[in-house]
Formats: sequence, C-alpha cells, structure tokens
Amino acid sequence: MSVGCSPVPMLKWIKADLHIHTVLSACADLDMSPREIINTAKLLGIGLLAITDHHAIDNVAACREVAKGTGITVLFGMEVQTREEVHLVCLFPSEDLADSFAALVAQHLPSNWLSLGAGEIQAVVTANDQVVRLDQRKLLASLDLSVEDVCGAVARHQGLTIAAHVDRPQYSLLANLGFVPPELPVAALETISDAAALHKKHPSTVGYPLLCSSDAHCLPMLNKEKYTYFYVAEDVTLSEIRMALKGEGGRKVRIEN
Ligand SMILES: [Zn+2]
Ligand SMILES: [Zn+2]
Repeated sequence: MSVGCSPVPMLKWIKADLHIHTVLSACADLDMSPREIINTAKLLGIGLLAITDHHAIDNVAACREVAKGTGITVLFGMEVQTREEVHLVCLFPSEDLADSFAALVAQHLPSNWLSLGAGEIQAVVTANDQVVRLDQRKLLASLDLSVEDVCGAVARHQGLTIAAHVDRPQYSLLANLGFVPPELPVAALETISDAAALHKKHPSTVGYPLLCSSDAHCLPMLNKEKYTYFYVAEDVTLSEIRMALKGEGGRKVRIEN
C-alpha cells in the first residue's frame, strides 16, 4: 500500500450531451420536461447531460433529482448570449456557483425586460413535471457583457465556457466575430463539422478541443448521429470534464457516431 498517493479512479467512456434546453427556454417544446429528458437520455445511453437554458438555471435541480439512481449525471449549465450576440455554454461545478453566476447574469440583462411573444412559454417545473411558475420575462436577450467578460465571470465561478454551435451562421463566435480571439479562455468549441473541415475554414479554431452537443429543443433532437464521449472517472464531475478537455490524468474526449 502506498502512502500519500490518492487512489487512481477507474476511468470509462461516458456518452455525453452538454447542451440541452428545457421548458424554461421559450424556444423549447413543452415535452422538454425533466422526466422526459432523463427518460429519453436513459433510452439513448447518454450518461452525462448539461441543462443549459437561456440565462436561467431554475430547472437544473429538478433534472438532477429525476436523474438520481439512474446513473446519469446532470451538470449545472446555462446558455449565455453576449453583447456581440454570441452564444456560450457555461458549466458550473455546484449549485451555489451556478446560482451566483445566474444572479450576476440577471444584473446584465436589459433592465426593461421584454415580454414573451404570443404562444411562448418559459416554465419552472418540479421533478414531477408540475409547473411551479411561468417566467414572463423574456430571458433570451443579449447581456451587456462581452465574450471576454462572460468567459472571465465563468472562470471566477470555477466554471467552463464552451463556444456554442460555432458552425451556425448566427449567434456564434465564428459567425459574429469571424474568428476565435487569441487567448480567449474557452475550454472547447461545439461543432457539427469534422475537425479537418473546421480547421481549414477557420484556422483560429486549431488547438481547441471540439465537442458535439445536441442543443436539443425537443426530445427527438437528443437522438443524434454523433456524440461526444468522455473517458473520465465514473463519478463524473466538472473537474473530470476539464481534465478530459486538457488530456490530463489519462482522461480524454472524442466525437464518434
Ligand atoms: Zn444558442
Ligand atoms: Zn442552445
């Protein structure tokens, strides 16, 4: 028995989807409830999820409660829209840190909240899919914070920032800024392109880990052609994800069909 060494955890591949919206996002279908999302993830063999509603974390706890005992890990996440209309997926290691970040975000949304459009619903729900309240403020609006500001705030909350759907012609880092700014502390780029095609078209993306996530707004979107797989400790945490993205401690990440 060695003294002073922490035990080496067993590592295994975990199928992941780190960008999922619930009924708290006005653009998501009403079937995106905690129970339906977790049940569908279970059927698809997805072992790691991040719930990432626009500028809100209120449905993450319910999803985590439903996931208890299923072997599925649910991370605290939020999708942010910066001043430049760039979308960033922000992940946090704990509810307290996610709460603190959400409070900061609320201070940087437009002070004269816009109202939701006709037919739009943003629902905070329980683990039993009961509606707790409807949020009538339009959550999806640009913050008065830049991409750099948001990355910095996420880092101060011990989180990870992932540039969302970088291939999209709008609301993405590449569409809106044209490149990945040098030294921008994003942990990964979410893309549906293969690495070679992305790097050829956008050389500034070279060197960043790539992730494939669904950005699911309805249940069928959770069933994808390609997924991200993390080789991490079974008891997966955000620090395991961070290590995998850096290729540290034997952890790694790959995208596969
Ligand atoms: Zn987005
Ligand atoms: Zn999204």
